[in-house]
Formats: sequence, C-alpha cells, structure tokens
Amino acid sequence: MMEKEDLRELTEEEMCKLMEEMGEKPFRGKQLCQWVHQKCVSQYEEITNLSQSLKDRLEERFRLENLDCVKVQTSVQGDTKKFLFETFDHNHVESVWMRYHHGNSVCISSQVGCRMGCTFCASTLYGLTRSLTAAEMLAQVYDIQRLTGERVSNIILMGMGEPLDNYNEVIRFIRMVSSSKGLNISQRNITVSTCGLVDKIYDLAEEGLQITLAISLHAPNDEIRRKTMPIANRFSMEEIFEACHGYVQKTKRRISFEYSMIAGVNDGKEMAVELARRCKGLLCHVNLIPLNEVKERTTKRSKEENIKDFKLTLEKNGINVTIRREMGKDIDAACGQLRNRYEA
Ligand code: SAH
Repeated sequence: MMEKEDLRELTEEEMCKLMEEMGEKPFRGKQLCQWVHQKCVSQYEEITNLSQSLKDRLEERFRLENLDCVKVQTSVQGDTKKFLFETFDHNHVESVWMRYHHGNSVCISSQVGCRMGCTFCASTLYGLTRSLTAAEMLAQVYDIQRLTGERVSNIILMGMGEPLDNYNEVIRFIRMVSSSKGLNISQRNITVSTCGLVDKIYDLAEEGLQITLAISLHAPNDEIRRKTMPIANRFSMEEIFEACHGYVQKTKRRISFEYSMIAGVNDGKEMAVELARRCKGLLCHVNLIPLNEVKERTTKRSKEENIKDFKLTLEKNGINVTIRREMGKDIDAACGQLRNRYEA
C-alpha cells in the first residue's frame, strides 16, 4: 500500500492547487488551510464546511492526525511541561513547553536522533534515525497548543536533532508557522540553533527570514571545541565567525552563542578572555548554559562560581552575556534525556 502524505505538509497555495486538481473551486483550499493550519484540527470530522465526499477523497490520499502523546511530565512549579510524542512510524521525539511572563515557548525537535555526535548531548547517543518533516514539526506546536489549551508565541529549534542538517524541511516549517495563513508566529520569536554547519549558515542568510540564529560554540578555540564537538573537525571557528559576520551583515539580526559550561573543559577564566576577543565587533550575545549532566555521559557541570566568574570576565571584556535560567530540570527537560529514559 502506498504511504499516505501528511495533509499538514501543504501550504495554502498548495491546497488551492490540490483542490483545482480534484475538480473543486480553489477557494476550498483556503477553507481547508484554515482548518488545518489555523484551527489546527486533527480529524476530518472536525471540518464542517467541506462536503463529506470531498473529505472522504482527501482522506484516501492524506493523513490528518495528532502525534501520539505517549508521556507528559510537568515540573513542580507547573511552568514547564515535557512531551514525548510518537510519530506515525513509531519513532519518538520530545518537545518542551515553557511558560514565561512574556508568553509561552516551545522547544521542538527537528530530527529523530542526531548524527552530530557532541559528547555531552543525549540526543546523539543512538545516531540519526531520520529527519522530521515540516508537518511533524508543525504537529509538535499544534498538539502542544491543544494539550495545554494555551497559545504558543515563541519557538526554539533546540530539541533533538540538528536543524540545519534538515535544512529544507526546517525552512518550510518556519515559513508555514510564521505565515498569516497559519499560526502567524512572528519570525522574531523563532530561534534556530545549530552546531555550526557553515555552508548552511550562508544559505540561511539568503532566505530573508527574521529569525534568531543561535550557534552552539561551547569553546573559545578549535582545540577545545574538538574535544566535545566532532563538527569542529569539519569547520573551524574562524570559518564560523566569518559566516556569522556575513549573516549579521545580511540580516541585521543579532547572533546568539550558546556556551554550555563543562567542568575542567571550557570554563577557565582565560578561555572567557579568548572568547571575548573572538566576539568583539560582532553583533552577538553569549548565553551560558549550566551543563545538564547526562547519565550516559562523563562530562560534568561547571561549579556555579566558575560560571559566574566566566560571565563577569566576558562582561568586563565588553560582551553581552546571560546565564540561562534553568527550567524543568526535575523532569529531564533537557537535551534528549526523556526519550532515552523512555526507550531504556
Ligand atoms: N543541534 C543543535 C540543537 C541542539 S540542542 C545545536 O547543536 O545547536 C540545543 C543546545 O543544547 C545546543 O547548544 C547543545 O549543544 C546544548 N546541549 C546539548 N546537550 C546538552 C547538555 N547535556 N547540557 C547542556 N547543554 C546541552
């Protein structure tokens, strides 16, 4: 039997075209898009202004269904929820919902697993199974809105996977979720995080998007970076920074550098000085993340005072820096840990 396509993969324009192909008026495509991408229905029965026979014909070709939510964990304070979703082909991905004073954020996955191999990260333990489609990324957002009953205003692609290793579907997802024909989430409230696929950063700069680009740096130089991030053997920090300068010039958007603090590896004071030197003159911001210790990994979190010192040194050297607020630590809401616990 031929695999059905996912109806959520189609934009309004594509739905209008589909309707014409099916011998219907194109405006039926607009109606269909409202149901699928604005009201976010997950069953054909919920669609009330299309005929039953048209819905039947659509259903023969296209899937329309929720991701199966197999586990939810809520933090003690109730401000963080972690969802484990099962895809139609029985893979598991995780998404995290966080309530902030300025609105709700979701952290979503872009791949099942990951092939980047960072040594501190839980998502990459079993390699890459497959990339997610735009429809499956949308489904994470739609389903979380339905399950929490609250609107989402911010999206970060910092769940499982390397977004730029799934470039086309990630771009498609961003365009669809920020479209006025969809949830209309401002691109300024969407962050894509990458371990630094330099060629893809150049491509991204050309897309004309207003998103925030976050780069996982985790080191002040190549030597230290290679200790934890295999990608550092493919692209040097110099190449990354060159690409970042190009990105800022093109998009006028500030880059965010992620720096997970690993005890004895990247948290020395002199390393903060070196990092500051590199960041000088670039429109950027450094986000220090206390490492989440992963049971299967040997890397340890830096001491709190080292993190504070590191921050201070960056500040003294004129760099914008924050320490990431930790949410949902009590529910494994970090970096692929929930899936691993579920599948163990
Ligand atoms: N592949 C993307 C998204 C990964 S997850 C990327 O590399 O940016 C988002 C961030 O969490 C990345 O900066 C990643 O390096 C970091 N991260 C992964 N595991 C972590 C851990 N155990 N503790 C702290 N940060 C971690």
